[in-house]
Amino acid sequence: MSVTDRLLENADAWADGFTAGELSVMPTLQLAVVACQDSRLDPQGLLGLGPGEAHYMRNAGGTVTDDMLRSLVISQRFLGTREIVLIHHTDCGMLRFKDDDLLDDLHAETGMRPTWAVETFDDLDDDLRQSMRRIQTSPFIPHKDNVRGFVYEVETGRLREVKLTEGSGSHREAGVNWRTGNASD
Ligand SMILES: [Zn+2]
Repeated sequence: MSVTDRLLENADAWADGFTAGELSVMPTLQLAVVACQDSRLDPQGLLGLGPGEAHYMRNAGGTVTDDMLRSLVISQRFLGTREIVLIHHTDCGMLRFKDDDLLDDLHAETGMRPTWAVETFDDLDDDLRQSMRRIQTSPFIPHKDNVRGFVYEVETGRLREVKLTEGSGSHREAGVNWRTGNASD
């Protein structure tokens, strides 16, 4: 019996007690959560969210990729979401290897490199800021006033906010010419 087979029994029990058939397709809190796929990170439990309240977009790292942007565009344009919460976390698998480790292995085993980017990172806060920037600079996302990023500490269960205006890349906001790296004044 596979894990899936066992879980189907849970699904039967779920259906027996199901009462949420009237929920709208529009998330009632108008919220989209972008998070890592890590099994220790439970965005609904952490944020106290229930069914029908928010969208969840998850991938390895919780990085904002083109496909995350696709989901966010649909979430905002057709399903009414207005705020975005991004969640990375400590001890993330994406901190443990480099893009080329995986790409070289795949090439050696299959003779091909994938067309997608692996998007590993060395620094959680930096990658979170990059993800926030990818949202802020996307011409397709209409609502960007409430985009906030957090690191979830799997060791303590605590959430720590990371501001876009701190750390690497923030010189753009600090009046430095980002093309030359020289101060603009
Ligand atoms: Zn992770």
